Amino acid sequence: MADIIQLLPDHVANQIAAGEVVQRPASVVKELLENAIDAGATAIKLIIKDGGKTLIQIVDDGLGMSVTDARLSFERHATSKINCAEDLFHLDTKGFRGEALASIAAIAHVEMNTRVGDDEVGTLLKIEGSKVLSQEVTVTPKGTSVSVKNLFFNIPARRKFLKSNQVELRHITDEFHRIALAHPTVHFHFYNNNNELFNLPATNLKKRVVNIFGNKTKEKLVPVGEETQVVKISGFIYKPEYAKKSRGEQFFFVNHRFIKSPYLHHAVMASFEGLLRPDTSPGYFLYLEVDPSSIDINIHPTKTEIKFDDEHTLYAILKSTIKHSLGQFNVSPVLDFDKDQNLDTPYMQLNKQAQQPGITINPGYNPFKESGLEKSIKSTFARQRSGDWESMYVGLESKVGRGEGFSTVHFESDTITGSIFDEQGGLDQIGATTFQLRRKYIVTTIKSGMLIIDQGRAHQRVLYEKFLKSITVKETLSQQLLFPLSLSFSKSELAVLKEIKGSLTSLGFAFGPFTEDELQITGIPQLINESEIGIIMDQLISDYQMEINGNGFTQSEVLSKALCKSLAVKTGEILDNESQQALVNALFACKETNRSPFNKIIYVTITERDIDNKFI
Ligand code: ADP
Ligand code: MG
Repeated sequence: MADIIQLLPDHVANQIAAGEVVQRPASVVKELLENAIDAGATAIKLIIKDGGKTLIQIVDDGLGMSVTDARLSFERHATSKINCAEDLFHLDTKGFRGEALASIAAIAHVEMNTRVGDDEVGTLLKIEGSKVLSQEVTVTPKGTSVSVKNLFFNIPARRKFLKSNQVELRHITDEFHRIALAHPTVHFHFYNNNNELFNLPATNLKKRVVNIFGNKTKEKLVPVGEETQVVKISGFIYKPEYAKKSRGEQFFFVNHRFIKSPYLHHAVMASFEGLLRPDTSPGYFLYLEVDPSSIDINIHPTKTEIKFDDEHTLYAILKSTIKHSLGQFNVSPVLDFDKDQNLDTPYMQLNKQAQQPGITINPGYNPFKESGLEKSIKSTFARQRSGDWESMYVGLESKVGRGEGFSTVHFESDTITGSIFDEQGGLDQIGATTFQLRRKYIVTTIKSGMLIIDQGRAHQRVLYEKFLKSITVKETLSQQLLFPLSLSFSKSELAVLKEIKGSLTSLGFAFGPFTEDELQITGIPQLINESEIGIIMDQLISDYQMEINGNGFTQSEVLSKALCKSLAVKTGEILDNESQQALVNALFACKETNRSPFNKIIYVTITERDIDNKFI
């Protein structure tokens, strides 16, 4: 057989390598920003068009490159950062694999202008799909500017795979945040479609965090600091009350490199133990400095995962450092989240005197007049009519707020002679009689039996359809605020708000002008309480950011989902009888009644036969 193995041509090898290094525009941004940092830049500009699909340009004032270096920089495994394998253990640069520029040039149209400080003129290089098109002498400022156009122009499958411009921009913003947070002393500019998104002057870490995430961040931060032989830890954690359901604003940096580490995240969570509401996690900006020889960064092409020599010690030190900070800044548990809410006395009952259960004795009772069974049924209903239900149905609460105790619970069996299920049918209108079970379910009767409805999910469905309708029909119930509310947001949050402003207005929000980092709210939907507006907006933005990630839902659907989740009644909330019935009726007026907007079952039916079967 003839020999069949051949070496791949460079441009093919580069394209294959690009598959690992460049997944999307954000990967290019990361690599180029890192190169600028490695070149010692003090000011870096990031310029993006159309989510990076049309243009990504990075301009730095760093070292620049000589003509030969400029040409070599696009070769695979060409790097100035290491000479031998030994150097891998003393890395103080971001890059070292010498792959990024070669990979990027294999799959895009690249132009590089670069000049070394001492030289009078610089070099302009144009490369497309690994082919050098031209190399010229040029007049250019000191430093390097790389522009990457038409990413994946020669890999249509990859280009098609890209998400919307907004989603790609969000990924780019994430990478930008990571690098900007790792290097607060570098001045960063970020422009998207000619708009300035960020202007971050050189400063200290705290101000950098505030510049990126908005003024409101200031009050959330607690400093963290510890120096041991193994590691130096610095940075900030958020106070526990600002913990969120979404996992934004969580950053680990090791030797100024952003890394992902579920293990260290666990250490942080462990130190917040007992301080967080269920399913929430705190924000943090934690900087670890370790001996470069004690870590291995080379385990992943994008270098966001690293291996530590002694993870366990690091875990323990991190945990105790954060605990210490929380203690020092007087952040101690305020609420006991583990307590069973069902054991709490309902608010309106707090000041009421406990009543002794009364025993009513029938003085005219003659045991020989009626059979035992007949007697017990009758006395049961006699008590029921006198409103003395408590002792029979402990745990079935109806509205306590009206001060009517438990007497408002109505059961089908209220009428002594009526059978629970009307044989002719038709009598049991849905929602006519209801009661709440364990502050979680609403039980109601239907012709064929009974329904057990999850109150939270039912309410989500009702609100969801209502919001969707408001957005599409634009018939809104809005309440004008007497005093407009000013809320501060980070730039990226404001960008999201601008994006969804139209839909929010249809929902009943009204806005004043958007400023640098503040938004004025002049009107809110009638369903929302003014005091909750800050929390709801935060939740809305983070849900929107997570959900819109190209999973096929429209903006209206995503927003309606986010809002209904925030506003729906929750497990543990007491509903009075009227509300229960209104909810049941509203649910069955919905277009879809079986599933919540999050595709969860809303109710189950238990038929008379199911019940009969239990008695066999
Ligand atoms: P790596 O960063 O892993 O070395 P790259 O392909 O990203 O590999 O870059 C190759 C080389 O090009 C770098 O080692 C560096 O010498 C040079 N280089 C890249 N970008 C810049 C820049 N912005 N300024 C100066 N030199 C650069
Ligand atoms: Mg690099």
